Amino acid sequence: MAGKIKVINPIVEMDGDEMTRIIWQFIKDKLILPFLDVDLKYFDLGMRHRDETDDQVTTYAANAIKQYGVGVKCATITPNASRVKEYQLKQQWKSPNGTIRSILDGTVFRKPIIVKNIPPGVRSWEKPIIIGRHAYGDIYKSTEIVVDSPGTAELVFTPSAGGEKRVMHIHDFKGPGVIMGMHNIESSIRSFAKACINYALSEKVDIWFGAKDTISKQYHGFFRDIFAEETEKSKDALRDAGVQYRYMLIDDAVAQVMKSDGGMLWACMNYDGDVMSDMIASGFGSLGLMTSVLVSPDGKFEFEAAHGTVMRHYYAHLRGETTSTNSIASIFAWTGALSKRGELDNAPDVVKFARTVERVVIETVEQGTMTKDLMLIAEPRVSKYALTEEFIDAVVARLREVV
Ligand code: NAP
Ligand code: MG
Repeated sequence: MAGKIKVINPIVEMDGDEMTRIIWQFIKDKLILPFLDVDLKYFDLGMRHRDETDDQVTTYAANAIKQYGVGVKCATITPNASRVKEYQLKQQWKSPNGTIRSILDGTVFRKPIIVKNIPPGVRSWEKPIIIGRHAYGDIYKSTEIVVDSPGTAELVFTPSAGGEKRVMHIHDFKGPGVIMGMHNIESSIRSFAKACINYALSEKVDIWFGAKDTISKQYHGFFRDIFAEETEKSKDALRDAGVQYRYMLIDDAVAQVMKSDGGMLWACMNYDGDVMSDMIASGFGSLGLMTSVLVSPDGKFEFEAAHGTVMRHYYAHLRGETTSTNSIASIFAWTGALSKRGELDNAPDVVKFARTVERVVIETVEQGTMTKDLMLIAEPRVSKYALTEEFIDAVVARLREVV
C-alpha cells in the first residue's frame, strides 16, 4: 500500500456505549486510521461522559455536524429508569439521537445492506428499500379522550390574533367511545420533503410517497401538496440526477413495494414509517445489516448503525465470554460518512476507499465468514461463525490484499 489517503475536511466522530463502543474502537484502529489521514473531531457520547457534561457534549456534537457537514455516530444508551441506577446518572437524560435530530431538524433514512447469501424474505427484493420516516407529530403528539357517556365532540381552532373561532362537528356520541386530536405543522413537513429530496439526489434513487388523501382530503392532502410543491421546486436537480417522484395511495405503495425489486426511497408519514421500517428491516434479514443516516434539510449528514448498543452481548463480554456481534452496520456508518466527505470534498480516492471497504465486507460474508446472527439465516448454510474481532480481522486481511 502507498501512503495513507488524505481526507481533506474533518469528520465529526461520536463515540458511544457498550458492545458497539468496543466494535467502534476495533473499526477505528484496524480499518480507518491505518489507511486514512483524517481529522476526526471526537465527541464522547458514552453514557458516563454525557452525564459528566450534563449532556452538553451531545449538543456540541450536533453543532459540530452543522459546522463540518458530516458525522459518524456509534450507538448510545437512551437512559431509562434502570440505566439511571446502573450508571448513577444525575438525571434521565434525553435520547442523544432525539437531541441531534432536533438540532439538525433532520430526517432519518434506514437502508439495508444487501448480501447475496442472506436472502430477503421477499424474493423480488434485489436492491435496498430505503425508508424515510417523518418524525414529527400525527398520533405521536396527539390528544385523546375516552368518552364514557353521550355527548358531542367538536374540533375547535382559536386564532391567536383574535377573530372567529372555527368549530367543526366530529360526532354526537350516544354512548361510550373514544376521540383523538392530532396535528402537524407545515415547516416540519416541508423539511421532511426537502430531506427526502436531498437524500434521493445523493443516492440517485426514486422517491415514492404514499398517503391516504382519498379519505383524509385535508390532512393527508396537505402532505401530498407539500411534497408536490417541494419536488416541483427541485425538478431540475431531480431530472438531472435521473430521480423520479411518484405519489400514490399508501395501500397502493405497500402493494407496489412488495412486488418491486427495490431501489427506491419510500417516504413515509410518521406512523407508516414506524410500522413499515420494522417490516422492511425484518424482510431484509438482520438488524446488523441495517444502516441509518440523518439528513438535514440543508444537506448535513450523520451516519450510524440502526441497531442499539447490543447490551446482552456486552454483558457476556464483561463476564469474559466470547461474543459474535455483527459490526457490518457500524462499518458502513464509517464508509457512508467517508464517501459523503469525499464527495463533498471532491476527493474520489476517499470515495473509492470507502466503496472498497464496503465491497470487501460483503465479499467476506459471501465467502462464508460471518457473525452468528447472519450464520443463522445464511443460504447456503455455513457451519461456523466468526467472533466479533475475528470478523473485523478477516475484513482487514482482505482489504490489505486490494489497497
Ligand atoms: P439492540 O442493541 O439493537 O439489540 C437487540 C438485540 O438484537 C440484541 O440483543 C441482539 O440479539 C440483536 N442485535 C442487534 N444488533 C446486533 C448486532 N450488531 N449483531 C448481532 N446481534 C445484534 O437493542 P436493545 O438491546 O434493545 O438496546 C440496547 C441499548 O441500545 C438501549 O440502551 C437502547 O437505548 C440503545 N439503542 C440505541 C440506538 C441508537 O443509538 N441508535 C438504537 C436502538 C437502541 P441477541 O441478543 O438475540 O443476539
Ligand atoms: Mg417501529
